[in-house]
Amino acid sequence: MINQSYTNIEIIIVNDGSTDDSIKFIEPYLDNPRIKYFTQINKGLGEARNVGIRNASGTLITFVDSDDWVDLDLYGMFFLDRMRDKNGADIYRTKTKFRYPIQKDRQGNYKIKSGEMIRVCMTSDFFLEEADAWRDEAWEIMSQRRDVKFFLLTKRPERVADHLPYNWGEGWENIFFNVTTENQQRADERIPILLDLPFRHKGIMCAPFIGPVSIRKYLEYGQIEQVLCDGARPCNYDWVKSLRQECVDFNVTFVFCGTGRRFLKDGRLYKIEGNGLQSQQAYRSGMSYRGKPIHFDLYDDLGYPIPDDRLHVPNFRERCQTCVMKIICNGCSDCGSCEKRERDR
Ligand code: SF4
Repeated sequence: MINQSYTNIEIIIVNDGSTDDSIKFIEPYLDNPRIKYFTQINKGLGEARNVGIRNASGTLITFVDSDDWVDLDLYGMFFLDRMRDKNGADIYRTKTKFRYPIQKDRQGNYKIKSGEMIRVCMTSDFFLEEADAWRDEAWEIMSQRRDVKFFLLTKRPERVADHLPYNWGEGWENIFFNVTTENQQRADERIPILLDLPFRHKGIMCAPFIGPVSIRKYLEYGQIEQVLCDGARPCNYDWVKSLRQECVDFNVTFVFCGTGRRFLKDGRLYKIEGNGLQSQQAYRSGMSYRGKPIHFDLYDDLGYPIPDDRLHVPNFRERCQTCVMKIICNGCSDCGSCEKRERDR
């Protein structure tokens, strides 16, 4: 909280009669002028929050519980949204992108080529409750494009079984289903559900990677085909090495996408600012590993299998040769996003 990129905040700590060592963790910060500290006999969460509200002097209030993860840009993003008169918590159906997978060019060809991969809702969650009303239409689009791979990512695997399309059967070949596993607790909650679900292609994404994760016992089932890992608050290199080794042992592709802003290596904490630099350092670490290729059986509009030589061939430019994402990238479409990352370095 004290390292937020947006600094015009006050941090109110309410110690609700804790009987553990909480105060030892709080004391070193009490000199910070942005921190207000209150203590009371235990009255429960609601009353603790009321104390915070009564003593807040700002116009916007958020609650951060002890098991919450807070991105360093959280309040900066709130601030920017406010300046633009937007609410980042709004959930809405995008106007132009939603049907993009079935849009055609002037020649009547799909804009997305057979064999390309589309990453769906990467900054949100495909299985959000608020999106239930639109999901059938999204499934319909994916069903129409059995020649394109769709990468789905969720933190809510427990909702998935009840929200699959009526014609799902044993699963569609073109859907690559992934769950996020930020630490061991989340891995142990979500991966067993992932293994039980009827998907033909499964992967996990340890992002933000905030604690050591061991997935060896899950890899033994042979269902997980890819593991992505992206560091966050101090990301320990030992966690990355150990997770990678498990993937290597099972010949599963492992991609270390970024170090995060704080990277702990050989007992030294490195501050690495900028997403570009974080991915560059991840590339230099040589931790990514190309395991067994993932083969998707893709079909044309008439339901015939498409041979590999008719599928999209990724086009890589010079800068791609040293990009950590190359292993899983569709190739360069000259969209400009990589240049933006370069500028962030
Ligand atoms: S297109 Fe961009 S993300 Fe993909 S490999 Fe090239 S530089 Fe990396």
